[in-house]
Amino acid sequence: MDEVTGAQLIAESLKAQNVEYMFGIVGVPIIEVAMAAQAAGIKYVGMRNEQAAAYAASAIGYLTGRPGSCLVVSGPGLIHALGGMANANMNCWPVVVIGGSSDQNQETAGAFQEFPQVEACRLYSKFSARPSSLEIIPSVIEKAVRTSMYGRPGACYVDIAGDMVNAKVDRSKVRVVSCCPSPPVSLAHHGAITEAISVLKAAKRPVVIIGKGAAYGRAEAALRELVEMVGLPFLPTPMGKGVLPDDHPNCVAAARSRALLQADVVLLLGARLNWILHFGLPPRFDPNVKIIQVDLCAEEMGNNVSPAVALLGDINAIVIQLLEVFHKDGWKYPSNTEWWSTLKDKIVANAKISKALALQSTLPMNYYTVFHHVSQLLPDDCIIVSEGANTMDIGRTMLNNYLPRHRLDAGTFGTMGVGLGFAIAAASVVRSERSNQRVVCVEGDSAFGFSGMEVETMCRYNLPVVIIVVNNNGIYSGVDPETWKEMAKVGDLTSVAPPVSLLPEARYDEVMTAFGGRGFLVRTVEELRSALQLSLSDWERPSLLNVLIDPSSDRKQQEFPWLTRANL
Ligand code: ADP
Ligand code: MG
Repeated sequence: MDEVTGAQLIAESLKAQNVEYMFGIVGVPIIEVAMAAQAAGIKYVGMRNEQAAAYAASAIGYLTGRPGSCLVVSGPGLIHALGGMANANMNCWPVVVIGGSSDQNQETAGAFQEFPQVEACRLYSKFSARPSSLEIIPSVIEKAVRTSMYGRPGACYVDIAGDMVNAKVDRSKVRVVSCCPSPPVSLAHHGAITEAISVLKAAKRPVVIIGKGAAYGRAEAALRELVEMVGLPFLPTPMGKGVLPDDHPNCVAAARSRALLQADVVLLLGARLNWILHFGLPPRFDPNVKIIQVDLCAEEMGNNVSPAVALLGDINAIVIQLLEVFHKDGWKYPSNTEWWSTLKDKIVANAKISKALALQSTLPMNYYTVFHHVSQLLPDDCIIVSEGANTMDIGRTMLNNYLPRHRLDAGTFGTMGVGLGFAIAAASVVRSERSNQRVVCVEGDSAFGFSGMEVETMCRYNLPVVIIVVNNNGIYSGVDPETWKEMAKVGDLTSVAPPVSLLPEARYDEVMTAFGGRGFLVRTVEELRSALQLSLSDWERPSLLNVLIDPSSDRKQQEFPWLTRANL
């Protein structure tokens, strides 16, 4: 008799569904699952907190289109992973979380780490189930993987009773489940395409908005053809950056506010009209703007703004549908319009302001100076991971992306603490593809702290991630070391220290050296440039640049009073 354990069934089923990565933290009852995963040919990355493990697994889903898996222990282990599941679900990224749980005969009996895990995951996932027998495991795993990718992608959860991990079953009794194919592709209705074309042709001030749905949907080639052939200005959302290169002549990102405010027609490709796009409403948008909304989720259509045309289906397929019409009639949006001049003038004016700030030579450095030099040194094909408040907001405007799916950030949920998990996932993919792309993680000092111990994970696996901590001693902003000392003299720091402050000039670089990576303390432009060059040339180890900037450095003056820090 050929017997197989529950652990083996989980691992082999994941592998059979082309799940190539598992991120997790082992313990009772799932150690054997991780070992079985390795035996089945799945890459297992042991992390330091389940939250970061879930972030990493979800980034695999976004980067590769196939979910990563996250393995956690019962109770608190699973609860830590909920943050990552919620983040994945909010971003529409596929991920499959596998959680060990109480033995079948101990449920509701006060078992070790007992928790209603299947119920708990419902709010954070599209599918949450506990297989009732060993025989059914391959079917449940297939359903979890399929559900995570089909329709609007998201998180799925499979609960494994502790006593099922080492229980055995005769292999011949287990139904073989084949690998579920990539999601079926759907096209938009023909009539809606015709309507969309006529709305676009009547536009005086059109803008194409490229969202991370376009990145996830791998629509880059068709989109480039559409933008270039029809001659349309485009604007990426934060993670839509790189679908078309940021330095593309039709990119009007540097005139974002103006473009949104004055556009009369928006072709919205895979981006929700949520807070990131100011809900599609005044005062950031023209109240009469016509939205051509492209999304694969029917329920998304009409959220906040009723679209002029709703194109339901896959972005890549729909852009090809639009292209077919434009190919036939050869229509082009003229390049000599007032709209183009308005946008181009604004781009030039905005560039001047950033440049002036970047070239300030006072110390400590400001954000613009740091990003100006970082952007000069980063290779065009690097994957940029970024989080923080000002660090992410200003970094986004100054660090270009040239390739799709090469930017990972706090995303739809505005989650801080995602950076190191994302970077570990990205570096794992880069390594397995034997590519020589670099992964650069640009972190605020506060953001770094949420998952800082994952530095050990990077060192353990020799992942050559470059972490740049832009350190302003706090959340939003902090205080300088002298002020901090004065405050400590005045009274109890828990009463007098601003809640936003963190330890001034904290040595995050030494966290990296503690585990054998390279650490640099950076105060000047020269130190920044040489540390970054050295780090980028090291393929063996991760590096961390602790860049001390002026704790009162802030964003440049914004033209619109309603453009606040939170408004991406
Ligand atoms: P952003 O963060 O760029 O604003 P969102 O996450 O708000 O983007 O929106 C992405 C949208 O893309 C979601 O509404 C999702 O349903 C949609 N989407 C994802 N993949 C595809 C695809 N292949 N085709 C069409 N729409 C997609
Ligand atoms: Mg900070």
